[in-house]
This record gives sequence, C-alpha cells and structure tokens, in this order.
Amino acid sequence: MHSNLFNQSFRIRTCFLTLLFSAFAGCVVVPPGQESAVVTRAQMQMGTLVKITAVARSESIAQAAVTAGFAEIRRLEELLSTWIPTSELSRVNTSAGVMPVHASPETLTVVQRAIQVAEMTDGGFNIAIGPAVDAWNVIEGQRVPIESELDALRPLVDLMSVHVDLGEQTIYLGKAGMRIDVGGIGKGYAADQAVEGLRRAGAVAGVVALSGDIKTFGRLPGGKMFPVGIQHPRKAGSVLAWIDLQDEAISTAGDYERFFEREGVRYHHILDPRTLQPARSCQSVTVIAREGVWADGLDTGIFVMGTELGMQLVEALPDVEAIIVDHEGHVHVSSGLRDRIRKP
Ligand code: ADP
Ligand code: MG
Repeated sequence: MHSNLFNQSFRIRTCFLTLLFSAFAGCVVVPPGQESAVVTRAQMQMGTLVKITAVARSESIAQAAVTAGFAEIRRLEELLSTWIPTSELSRVNTSAGVMPVHASPETLTVVQRAIQVAEMTDGGFNIAIGPAVDAWNVIEGQRVPIESELDALRPLVDLMSVHVDLGEQTIYLGKAGMRIDVGGIGKGYAADQAVEGLRRAGAVAGVVALSGDIKTFGRLPGGKMFPVGIQHPRKAGSVLAWIDLQDEAISTAGDYERFFEREGVRYHHILDPRTLQPARSCQSVTVIAREGVWADGLDTGIFVMGTELGMQLVEALPDVEAIIVDHEGHVHVSSGLRDRIRKP
C-alpha cells in the first residue's frame, strides 16, 4: 500500500538548486565585515534531496535554524508519507470505505488545499489519483497498465468521495480501495512549514528546497535576492532561465525526472485524472507563488490542464506566475514574469 510520494529510494532529481547553492558549498560563509552567517546543509528526506540555507546573526543560530527546518520536514513526513504505514495519511487510506480517521491540523490543511487546487485547475489536480499512481508505479514498475485495469480504478479516483470534516478533525474516503496521494503538493507545504521553523529558530533569511519545490524568505547578506535556475526539461543540467526570489516559492513539475520510455513513448509520473494516462500537454510547468503549497499544487494541476487553460488560470490569480514549456518545447511566460527572468 504505497504511492510514489516520498519514494524512499534515492532519486537523483534534476535539482536546480545545485546550481543555486553551489555558491554556498562548504557550509558556512561569513561575509567579511558583516555580522551574519550563512549555513547550508543537505540531507535525504521525503525521498528526495532536501537542502536548507539559513542566514542568521551568528553561525550557531544559523545552524540551529537549519536543524529546526529539517526537524519540521521529518515531522510532516511522519504525518503525510504513504510509505510510512503508521502515518496519518496511510491510516486514512487503509480506512477507506470503513471509517473516518482523526487527523492533525497539518494533514487537514494539506488535504483542504489539495481540494482547493483541484477546484482551481478544473480537476487537473486530484489527490484521489493514488490507485492509478500505484498501477503505473513509474519508478519501480516500468509497466504500462492495460486499459481495463485503469477502467476498474476510475471509480476510485473520485474527489467527491474525499470527506474532510474540520469540526470533527477527520478525513474519510467514501469507497473501499480509494487512496489519496499528496505527492503533488506535500513537498511545497513542507517547504513552507520548514521556513516557519527557520524563522522561529531565529534565522533572518533562508531557503528550503525539497529538490524542485523551493521556498525563500528574506534576502542574502548584502541585500541580494535568492537566485534560482529553472531546469531545462530536455537538456539535463542546463538552465532554461534564472529568476531572483524574495519571500516567494517556486515549484516545477516535469515529465523528465521520473519516467521511462517504451517503444518511443515517454511514460511519466503526472497522470491526467480523466484518462489515468500520463498527461501529454507539457514538458514542464514552473509556478511561482507566495506559498509553496500553492506553487506545488498548481504546477501539477496546470501540467494536466495544458498551456492555454493553465496560462488563463495563472493570469487570473494574483501573486501567481508561471513558465510553461509545452509538449513541442515552446516556452510560455506569464505577463508578470517577463521582466523578471534572465536567460542563462
Ligand atoms: P515531484 O516534485 O515529486 O515531481 P510533482 O509536483 O511533479 O511532484 O507531482 C507529481 C506527483 O503527484 C506524482 O508522483 C504523484 O504522486 C502525484 N500526482 C500525479 N498525477 C497527479 C494529479 N493529476 N493530481 C494530483 N497529484 C498527482
Ligand atoms: Mg506539484
């Protein structure tokens, strides 16, 4: 009983942060003449490489802030990972069709946000996708499920049967066999919460990056914003564009990180909830928003919606911007971003 969320196996994702933080490698940088320290540490969490940078008055505060950020992500992983059988979400899933399960405020918030993103993206985003994600099992299985197998799962991919009761603080999946999978939104939420952990521990600025799901706050010593490179979806290790961020999150969903090819067809991990097949309209979708939870949820949902409807949505949302690379490789940039991105 699992999904690809927080895949425990080591996945080397095309991590655009490597580029960003290479400047800080070596862990501690205290710029001459300034009383601030920058500490960066990385470790595997949620099945991916997590890199946290904290800026603080002293090295010890910055170190403590980074530690607090990792602790926050660990705590959320224990609530949300479907790889951990005792997590709240695993218990919600095993109780599908049986009974509601009590959930913490964090789990309730993630599921609530996921339902909001589903509404915004016209069902492109759908956390009830779990059974289909498992059927594809893109990373380990590399098998193409036959149509009748997917047909049998379709009734289970039913967001209307995900019942969140905020009064009782419970989540109930109405049909036996349903499974929710927050792999498309959970890392963005974790980045937000980890940033709060950094702040509480005394950091004045920082970045939390769960591979391609990144949240920044404040500025670097010297007043610079945090530069982030957006990965080119077809040129490994190559940057499509640079952007400077402050108090913003950025998140990318792509078909180039977890995929396999069979007879010239690329099968990847973002599924269209209508067809239960890999979504075909984009190569990558990068979303910038105030909070990671929105950036992460929207990148996956817009990937399914496609360029035209996706850009319409982005243009209608305040404080949300996007770069969409469509299935032919054409790059589309939202109006609020055109003056902000730099070519490599
Ligand atoms: P990652 O950053 O891990 O690549 P994404 O934000 O790109 O994550 O989301 C992909 C993950 O979301 C998949 O691995 C799967 O768990 C889940 N997922 C796949 N299709 C959908 C969908 N249509 N709606 C919601 N979640 C999805
Ligand atoms: Mg996402």
